[in-house]
Amino acid sequence: MNQIIEEKTFEVEVQQLVFNQRNYFKSNATRPVEFRLKQLKKLKALLLEHEDEMHEAIFNDFGKSKYENQLTEFFPLIDEINISIKNLKKWVQHKSVKTNLLNFPAKSYLVPEPLGVTLVIGAWNFPYNLSLTPLVGSMAAGNTTILKPSELPAETSKIMAKIINENFDPNYLRVVEGAIPETTALLKQRYDKIFFTGSPMVGKIVNRAAAEHLTNITLELGGKNPVIFHKDAALKTGVKRMIWSKFVNSGQLCIAPDYALVHKDVKEEFLQLAVKEIEKANFSSGNNNFVQIINHRNFDRVVGLIDSKKVYYGGTYNREDRRINPTILHNVSLDDAVMQEEIFGPLLPVIEYATIDEAFEIIKDIEKPLAAYLFSDSNAVKERFLNEIPFGSGAINDSVMQVTNPNIPFGGVGNSGMGRYHGKYSFECFSHFKGVLDKPTVIETNLKYYGYSEKQLKIIKALS
Ligand code: NAD
Repeated sequence: MNQIIEEKTFEVEVQQLVFNQRNYFKSNATRPVEFRLKQLKKLKALLLEHEDEMHEAIFNDFGKSKYENQLTEFFPLIDEINISIKNLKKWVQHKSVKTNLLNFPAKSYLVPEPLGVTLVIGAWNFPYNLSLTPLVGSMAAGNTTILKPSELPAETSKIMAKIINENFDPNYLRVVEGAIPETTALLKQRYDKIFFTGSPMVGKIVNRAAAEHLTNITLELGGKNPVIFHKDAALKTGVKRMIWSKFVNSGQLCIAPDYALVHKDVKEEFLQLAVKEIEKANFSSGNNNFVQIINHRNFDRVVGLIDSKKVYYGGTYNREDRRINPTILHNVSLDDAVMQEEIFGPLLPVIEYATIDEAFEIIKDIEKPLAAYLFSDSNAVKERFLNEIPFGSGAINDSVMQVTNPNIPFGGVGNSGMGRYHGKYSFECFSHFKGVLDKPTVIETNLKYYGYSEKQLKIIKALS
C-alpha cells in the first residue's frame, strides 16, 4: 500500500515538474543565446569545481581511476561544452538554402528552434559523459531538461544530482534519480524530445512510450561490433590499438570491438601479439587501468559467456572484487554463447576466416552494429568495407577513436539506434529546423492562380 502511495506521489511530482518546465519554456526564457551561453559556462565552472568529487564517486562505484576518468569522461565532456560555447552564435543563425525558380524572387532558409521540454536517460558505463554530453546539446539548443542518470553507479548519479539540483532552477534543469519504477513514471509524461542511451531492449520500451505522444526520439543503443584483421594488416600497430580499445573500462564500452574476425594466415601471430599487448598493459587490482565490472549481475553474465575449452588467454576472475582478467577465446563458432549477445565485458572471441566475403557475411548475419573496424592495407578491401558493411560509426586501422572527433557524428543504425549527436550534431539533435520561404511583395506572378491553362502548366513544369 505504502509503495503504491509513494509511486503515485512520485508520479504527481514528475507531472508537476514537466508542467513547470513547459511553462518556463513557453516564457521564452531559454531561447536567448546569451542565456544559453551563461548556463553552459555555469555548468562548466561547476564541473571543474566538483572535479575531485566526481573522480572519487566513480572510483567508489566501479574502481575507475582518476587518470582514466579524466581521459575518457571528464576531458571529452569539458571539450564538448567548450565547442558549444565557441560555436553557438554560429549554430543559431538562419541557414540559407537555394530558392527554386518557381518561387523567384524570394529567400529560403532554415531557422533552428529549441524543441521544448526534453528527457535525457543515461547509461552507466560512462555515467558522466552519457548523461551530461546530451544535456549540453539540449542546453545549447535552448531546451529545458530533465536528466535521469543510470542508477547503477549510485555515487555518480548522486553527484550529478547535487551539482545540477543545487545550482540550477528546476524549471530549467532537473536531475531525477531512480531505477525502473522512476523511469517508468517519467516516461508516462509528454516531452518534446527523449534522448535515451542504453540497451536495445529498453530502447524499445522508450520508443513505445514516445510513440504515445509522437515525441521526437534519439536512441543510442548497443550491439556486437566487429573488428576485422585482414591478412595484409599492419598487425603489430593494429593489435596494440585494438587491445587498448577492447579492454579500456574492462570492455564496458558500447563501441568497443565485441568480436574479432581474423584472416587464417595471420591468426597465430594476431593471438601472440594480443597476449603481449595485454601483458604489457599489466591489468591488476590497484592499477589505473583495471576497472571493475559494474555489479555482480553483469559479472555473472559475462563470466557465464566464458567457455573454458576455448580460452586462449586469461579466463580468470575474482567475484568478490568484481574483476575479470582480459580474456581471449579462440576457435570460437557462431553458435557459441559468447556470439549470441553483446558481451559488454573483457572477453575477446576470435573467429578465423578464409576470404573477406566470409567475414562480411558473418557481420551481415548479425544485427547492424553501433561500430565496426577494419585493419587492412588494401584499398580494395577498405572500399568494400565502407560500401558493404552497415555500422553507426567506425574506423580503418584504428578502433574506438572516432568517438573522440567531435566532427564525426555519434550514433547507431537499425538495432544499434537512431539519431546522432556530439559537437554541432548535438545542437541539431535537440533542435527543429523550421523551413521558411520569405517572399517580397513587390513582384507577383500569376502562374498558380485559378484560371488554369495548358500554357500555365507548361511554364510551371519548366520552372520546377
Ligand atoms: P539499460 O538499457 O539497462 O539502462 C539504461 C537506462 O534505462 C538506465 O537509466 C536505466 O535506469 C533505464 N532502464 C533500465 N531498464 C528500464 C526499464 N525496464 N524501463 C525503463 N527504463 C529502464 O542499459 P545499461 O545497462 O545502462 O547500458 C548498457 C547498454 O547500453 C549496452 O547495450 C550498451 O551497448 C548500451 N550503450 C550504448 C551507448 C551509446 O552511446 N550508443 C553508450 C553506452 C551504453
